[in-house]
Amino acid sequence: MILDPNAPGFDHLEPRDREAIEATIAWFEDRGKVALKDADREHRWYSDYLAFQASEGIFARFLTPARDGGGDPERRWDTQRICAFSEVSAFYGLAYWYTWQVTILGLGPIFMSENEAARERAARLLAGGEIFAFGLSERAHGADIYSTDMVLTPDSGDGWRANGGKYYIGNGNEAAMVSVFGRIEGVEGADGYAFFAADSRHPDYELVRNVVNSQNYVSQFELHDYPVEPGDILHRGPAAFDAALNTVNIGKFNLGFASIGICEHALHESITHADSRILYGMRVTDFPHVRQAFADSYARLAAMKLFANRAIDYMRTASPDDRRYLLFNPLTKMKVTTEGERVIDELWDVMAAKGFERDMFFEMAAKDIRGLPKLEGTVHVNMALVLKFMPAYLFDPDPGLAPPERALAPGDDEFLFRQGPARGLSRIRFGDWRAAFEPFATVPNVARFAELAESFKRLLIDAAPDAEQQKDLDYLLTLGELFTLIPYAQLILEQAKLVDFPADTLDQIFDVLVRDFSAYAVELHGKTSATAAQADWARGAITRPVVGGERFDSVFATVRGLAGQYEMRR
Ligand SMILES: Cc1cc2nc3c(=O)[nH]c(=O)nc-3n(C[C@H](O)[C@H](O)[C@H](O)COP(=O)(O)OP(=O)(O)OC[C@H]3O[C@@H](n4cnc5c(N)ncnc54)[C@H](O)[C@@H]3O)c2cc1C
Repeated sequence: MILDPNAPGFDHLEPRDREAIEATIAWFEDRGKVALKDADREHRWYSDYLAFQASEGIFARFLTPARDGGGDPERRWDTQRICAFSEVSAFYGLAYWYTWQVTILGLGPIFMSENEAARERAARLLAGGEIFAFGLSERAHGADIYSTDMVLTPDSGDGWRANGGKYYIGNGNEAAMVSVFGRIEGVEGADGYAFFAADSRHPDYELVRNVVNSQNYVSQFELHDYPVEPGDILHRGPAAFDAALNTVNIGKFNLGFASIGICEHALHESITHADSRILYGMRVTDFPHVRQAFADSYARLAAMKLFANRAIDYMRTASPDDRRYLLFNPLTKMKVTTEGERVIDELWDVMAAKGFERDMFFEMAAKDIRGLPKLEGTVHVNMALVLKFMPAYLFDPDPGLAPPERALAPGDDEFLFRQGPARGLSRIRFGDWRAAFEPFATVPNVARFAELAESFKRLLIDAAPDAEQQKDLDYLLTLGELFTLIPYAQLILEQAKLVDFPADTLDQIFDVLVRDFSAYAVELHGKTSATAAQADWARGAITRPVVGGERFDSVFATVRGLAGQYEMRR
């Protein structure tokens, strides 16, 4: 279940792709932990890593969609191997994942474009080992991308001059093509939006500074009368806005896998440290609270992996008629990454001082894990999105809609580049979530959680949020946390069935979910705007998980079995 670089697995990938993953692991292990930590501490730009990926052609093969791959079967957009690379690169540090991630984002508007010359150029530059950037955010506007101040003014010919600044733009120091979002002067509303490709080496592109303290270069840049030719335009009008959102749809999925990779490495270090430490004549892993912390964090991490791996199937089988991925994708971004924070929090309480040490990976993990819920749309923004699906998901399931088959075979996920307008979310239908629970009715905490999910439906029927509450995002965020647990549980169970997951660990996962549900019910109870009927429901929803001593011992033994299994080479 937990990535071990000594035996990385990924058996579902093509041999050539597995080799690329193994070569990446070997590169990090050969360079070693001392160099990894030195580079992190000194904020050293990772040109050695980028040279490695260029020589292996990893970004070129993994990030060129088939339509622009010149018939090379290895160049395709295959979400399975992209997720594998996200997990492995983040296992060694978020910085190594981030440069790949913002390359993916930068490529989104290009490969979604009908501008063939730009696509051909991007494919050529990728083949040459170049990196890319996505210039959406601006200093003054944050999530409000409607208010862009990057302005394209018509020049005397058929082109424009771009003026304005961008902020928080990863790879903006070296990217061969920066996809920049802006608007055409004098064109009001959505018709004025434009995406164009800029070159970070052009003299009219001023690289102002790195705005973060890290190995990553998260740039502020300014364009000063930057010449934009018609051939640089990737999208215009509402299509430019859709390209921004659809690119983030592709990119934000990877954040969940980054979180998983970070947690896996941190878990190896934590269990190995705790299991070899004796205090008061006792092994640290024999303290009851430490055993609980490991069983819970392992269960949370296993749940993150089950959910995210199943979500890949929904991403890969998506089509204009099946857009269920639009719920499971923000959950991979928001829920999996916040669960990652909880895993690290729990492990850090066990690691204690060791988690601060300069030669531990953990010290990086504790810092980096915080970024993921905040990037590419905050938890709030993603929760607002998830809530749009709640009525159709809970009250209007389509019994004819079967869960997708597993999508493990190599392929090109071309639909992601033609997702179309981001409208009509509330009309998206889902299968009946209860079907995923049925095969596990005998697992005690799965059954108990199913009762809670049914009771949540009753809350929405008997004490539905009133008009004021429906505008109160603070209230809705807590309601959203309760709702989120249901689709999260659904995909965990779907995947558990597909991979024949051990029932004891599944029971432990649902033990955690029952406790989480109760905790969110308490939160709802405490909301100033909660009505008396809602508070009554919340009190009734507080539920104890079904306790199982043997099951707990067996899950803990599984985690403890990881002790000493893997340590990064020095
Ligand atoms: C390390 C790093 C790397 C980044 N890389 C890139 C990159 O390569 N390219 C790029 O374009 N951007 C990048 N970003 C920007 C990132 O995507 C933004 O941080 C994000 O869009 C949110 O903007 P903000 O942080 O300014 O928050 P703000 O938008 O200022 O939000 C402030 C608060 O308001 C809330 N809020 C805002 N809008 C809503 C809403 N509609 N509903 C509910 N709540 C809302 C937020 O949740 C938050 O709590 C990066 C940021 C960082 C820190």
